[in-house]
Amino acid sequence: MDKFRVKCNNCKNVIDVENLNGVCSKCGRALQTATQGEISIYRMGSPIGVAVGYGLYLNGEPYGHIANKELVKLSLPFGTYNLHCTCGLTRRCQDLVVELTPENPIAYVKARIKAGFWTNKIIIEKANKEDMP
Ligand SMILES: [Zn+2]
Repeated sequence: MDKFRVKCNNCKNVIDVENLNGVCSKCGRALQTATQGEISIYRMGSPIGVAVGYGLYLNGEPYGHIANKELVKLSLPFGTYNLHCTCGLTRRCQDLVVELTPENPIAYVKARIKAGFWTNKIIIEKANKEDMP
């Protein structure tokens, strides 16, 4: 079953839920997730840093982790979001800005790590629905 990642309006915790009309697992309040957009992020398989979860940041705020070959769906209000990732000591990241609007409510995004000579770098880029697992 699909899981969605949301930030609770009440306690501000980032939680994974199966039912967007359910309640927050931290504070028990109803999740208010009507008329929302979504960012589907797929972390592509990579031999580098497999065991390490990518730290996910949305507009500079931590938004949980994403594991190797994991698909995370962020359920969000419409708006503009800057996506940033970290992986262990790797802080270098090619950020991506996505806009969620009523016309384009779902953004597909893929993230991968690129091995560098001195340091690895995470690349976040736009993807198509067909790229999703
Ligand atoms: Zn809550």
